[in-house]
Amino acid sequence: RAKQKGRAGFALFSEDLTHQATERIQLGNRLRRAVELDELRVVYQPQVDFATGKIIGAEALMRWESPDMGSIVPTRFIPLAEEIGCIVPMGEWILRQTCQQGRAWLDAGLPPLSLSVNLSAHQFHQADICQVVADILHETGFPAEQLELEVTESALMQPGNQTIELLHGLRKLGVRLALDDFGTGYSSLAYLKHFPLHMLKIDKSFVDDIPHSDKDMRLVSTIIFMARSMEFKVLAEGVERQEQLDVLKGLGCDLYQGFFTSIPVPADEFIALLK
Ligand code: C2E
Ligand code: MG
Ligand code: MG
Ligand code: MG
Repeated sequence: RAKQKGRAGFALFSEDLTHQATERIQLGNRLRRAVELDELRVVYQPQVDFATGKIIGAEALMRWESPDMGSIVPTRFIPLAEEIGCIVPMGEWILRQTCQQGRAWLDAGLPPLSLSVNLSAHQFHQADICQVVADILHETGFPAEQLELEVTESALMQPGNQTIELLHGLRKLGVRLALDDFGTGYSSLAYLKHFPLHMLKIDKSFVDDIPHSDKDMRLVSTIIFMARSMEFKVLAEGVERQEQLDVLKGLGCDLYQGFFTSIPVPADEFIALLK
């Protein structure tokens, strides 16, 4: 086949693309119905406080359990959901689900846990996002101060939007705001100082090679120093090894999450981890 490039190669290539596109359309059609068919699940990944070594809460992450395709990870379906516009109802679903769960844990006598939910760029820029969050908090009775919303740099950097007003609006509800995957986007420091955030989450890609990469060591220590000087809390994502933990603690990082403590797990397993 290598011999027949040119026309034949091109035909092969475009056939492949068509196949991929068809697959995406089919997957998209399935995804649109995932909420109503009750195929979405929430898993919780513990967040640990460096100062005490205790789990203080969790990030809620979405899973799609398809009856015939099995468990599908968000890196495969979240970008698709964004593209076809069903991320908004899906995002509301996980927010409501997480607040309900948080309320149930309080009612069961557990100490107040911080629960973080990811907001997609689309969701964040809906005109009524503050109302949506307020309604869900009211409806579920989950205390606003226990809820944290994670936004990405790309969501904050969308031009022509009232980003800062939106952030202030959410903050007024009493929820905390975290900047997710920090360092992977293009947010400028000039903007960062105007954003009323509570926390920066250092992306896993910067954490992976510490302490062995000098560059990443310097980057992470600079991020932590900068975040602290701006009075943001700092959480390190993707901690898998003791050596990473030791370094991050020494650098003054506040919190971490990662496979070192636990992969994201269903609600009952998360509660078992607290004990
Ligand atoms: P994220 O918000 O940065 O979430 C952290 C991701 O890193 C999770 O992947 C988590 O399982 C993974 N992770 C945490 N610790 C480790 C570690 O030690 N090692 C490794 N290899 N991975 C680790 P997950 O659940 O596959 O989610 C991927 C991304 O999909 C999330 O990244 C987030 O951007 C998006 N996502 C997931 N759930 C939702 C959701 O409900 N709404 C929205 N808008 N996005 C979501
Ligand atoms: Mg996140
Ligand atoms: Mg992240
Ligand atoms: Mg990440």
